[in-house]
Amino acid sequence: RAKEQGRNRFCFYTQDLNRQAVDKLEIEVALSHALSRGELLLHYQPKVCTTTGSIVGAEALLRWRRNGELVPPGRFIPIAEQSSLILDIGAWVIDEVCAQQARWRAQGLDMPQIAVNVAARQFAAGQLDTVLSEALHRHGVPPQCLELEVTESMLMDRPAESAAMLRRLKELGVSLSLDDFGTGYSSLAYLRQFPIDALKIDKSFVDHIETGPEGCAIVDAVIALAHRLGLTVVAEGVETTGQQAHLRAQGCDVLQGFGLARPMPLGDFEALCSRGALLGASSQL
Ligand code: C2E
Ligand code: MG
Ligand code: MG
Ligand code: MG
Repeated sequence: RAKEQGRNRFCFYTQDLNRQAVDKLEIEVALSHALSRGELLLHYQPKVCTTTGSIVGAEALLRWRRNGELVPPGRFIPIAEQSSLILDIGAWVIDEVCAQQARWRAQGLDMPQIAVNVAARQFAAGQLDTVLSEALHRHGVPPQCLELEVTESMLMDRPAESAAMLRRLKELGVSLSLDDFGTGYSSLAYLRQFPIDALKIDKSFVDHIETGPEGCAIVDAVIALAHRLGLTVVAEGVETTGQQAHLRAQGCDVLQGFGLARPMPLGDFEALCSRGALLGASSQL
């Protein structure tokens, strides 16, 4: 009996694994056609300056409209990142942001810098500087209109090569920021070897701000230390006014999160930028 049960359980287990593998494969195949079918698009989430309240940038976030419905990013981005699909998709995101910046300039619009997320595989492939400079040239836009977001784990994998790549990117003139800071294992002292401009404090730390003094301790220390190292500090995942007030009081430079603005389609982002500031100036707090 036990044997039978065991066999049944094994059956369910493999069925489950098969299901997952098939789902994943199905997504991978469909995703491989998404680019050529024009199913990929970008949403933009504003980054807001804590002192002026104005929109100082935005993060481009990848979206996939499949059969008219948006596929949740968590369902397809990790799959793209596990395959070489992310190389083409990542290059498309960079090209699309440059093309968009060129369109805005042609329309005489004064739009902020746009940040692009870089995948580990894309970074490790060693072509990112070439991909980037070709896209900038193709669309005739200055490097200042672009920012790249990289993560700690990407840099720690092969620190010497990573530092060299970041220096080449910096030489091209784009801004660099460290995404999801605090989720890896590196210290700020260690990160000094990389030529980054800004640090994004991960949402998991921002979430703890209102849980008490210990929750604030890490965030406050990171802001102070990052400033002493000359880095701009961005807080991600800011949802509540309490978090906003605390981060502004601590001198955090830039806020990003649902509490300020959600990621939104292009048209909504343009409309929001034309309306001006998202927050009152800090003196009004
Ligand atoms: P990320 O770069 O850390 O981006 C922030 C994510 O947090 C976004 O999720 C954003 O919608 C979400 N977020 C922002 N503010 C809040 C908030 O206040 N509350 C909550 N709960 N969430 C908030 P999204 O768009 O689902 O993207 C998830 C991840 O997918 C990104 O994390 C990034 O790692 C990756 N990703 C997105 N676009 C691209 C891309 O073009 N290329 C690559 N390689 N990865 C991308
Ligand atoms: Mg990011
Ligand atoms: Mg992030
Ligand atoms: Mg994050």
